[in-house]
Amino acid sequence: MDNILPFDRRHLWHPYTSTTDPLPVYPVESASGVRIKLAGGRELIDGMSSWWAAIHGYNHPVLNKAAADQLAKMSHVMFGGFTHEPAVRLAETLLQITPPPFSKVFFADTGSVAVEVAVKMALQFWHAKKRPERNKLLTVRGGYHGDTFGAMSVCDPVSGMHAAFTGMLPPQFFAAMPRCRFGEEWNESDFTDMREKLYKNKNEIAAVILEPVVQGAGGMRFYSPVYLQRLRELCDETDTLLIFDEIATGFGRTGTLFAMEHAGVCPDILCLGKALSGGYLTLSAVLTTDATAETISLPETGGPMSSARVLRHGPTFMANPLACAVAKASVDLLLASDWRKRIYCIENILRETLSPAKDFPSVADVRCLGAIGVIEMNEPVDVAAFQKRCVEKGVWIRPFGKLVYLTPPYIIAENDLRYLAETAVQLLFF
Ligand SMILES: *Cc1c(COP(=O)(O)O)cnc(C)c1O
Repeated sequence: MDNILPFDRRHLWHPYTSTTDPLPVYPVESASGVRIKLAGGRELIDGMSSWWAAIHGYNHPVLNKAAADQLAKMSHVMFGGFTHEPAVRLAETLLQITPPPFSKVFFADTGSVAVEVAVKMALQFWHAKKRPERNKLLTVRGGYHGDTFGAMSVCDPVSGMHAAFTGMLPPQFFAAMPRCRFGEEWNESDFTDMREKLYKNKNEIAAVILEPVVQGAGGMRFYSPVYLQRLRELCDETDTLLIFDEIATGFGRTGTLFAMEHAGVCPDILCLGKALSGGYLTLSAVLTTDATAETISLPETGGPMSSARVLRHGPTFMANPLACAVAKASVDLLLASDWRKRIYCIENILRETLSPAKDFPSVADVRCLGAIGVIEMNEPVDVAAFQKRCVEKGVWIRPFGKLVYLTPPYIIAENDLRYLAETAVQLLFF
């Protein structure tokens, strides 16, 4: 492979980087199973699943075959006026594995766009009900919902990007971050701020949106599922829509197929992404109920023509057949595996290997849930220096801020996982 780094450094933008002083990048030649092979031959054990997505590892024969078979038929056709088997079969499966109230599926291309679509659904819902003043969102602090404008508006106002886009983001309502941790005894006062904010502003609020149980990129916090039970009740009392963003948590990551199952509650609108396509292609989905969809579609009345309202969204690559075919294969592969047991094992090993980090004074907290292990430091981690040492040791971990976390592919072997986690601890403290 020619050295691609000089061109990359000169011309390409990477996520959240400067062009004049970018973080180093490592050229990847191929990836297979849990191993990422760098140019030059060095192999890294993957601790990230390429940001929660590659749950079956890389270059999986079953997913490769699904892609190749679909590629031989068509990689894409427009979804306006056409439909196809990959979209229909995937939607069928998604409706089978989610709670019964879900009955409608909208396919989009990224997680952020799924959030935009969910928000549009909520706004159009209230518009159709002739309550257009219910056009704001309520969320909790510490959340992350994506990088597009609507999604950014509900990201944490401090750690998110609000300051950089002052005046451009629609103002939303923020309740206190859920404090009661996953597994801790529930404290009713944890919900007070949410209750007050929603009651006080319910005539302006279209929907509450949040990540169930795990706040991901906003801080990797795991909170009590009771919060979600209270929230479902509160949304019912105040006739407010509830949106769960399961883009990071969906498809087994927290130990249940969806994080909402920890609470046994179902939102009105559900966003899926990331692991949906097994990390192969960009794809997201928004699921909703008949009740919500039918309201959105209520005929316009009063005008010269009475016609059903349409959901105002339709991306070019909507329901891309290649992505849908791989996603269907990925979900089937997951369901056919002993994923529950695997994730339980991963959780136990992460707990065992990361817990010793608690004893170091530079550590604020260590926590694990499902196939997620987090070491929270007191100070931000030097990403470039830490990653350089990781690469030397043959592991791939990408910290952000004060957080060093592991979200490995579910197929990781026990010895690889132990090496990965022990290396993370060793590099941080020795
Ligand atoms: C990653 C993520 C998104 C955004 O998804 P993209 O595909 O990066 O646009 C939204 N919500 C949550 C919870 C996420 O983790």
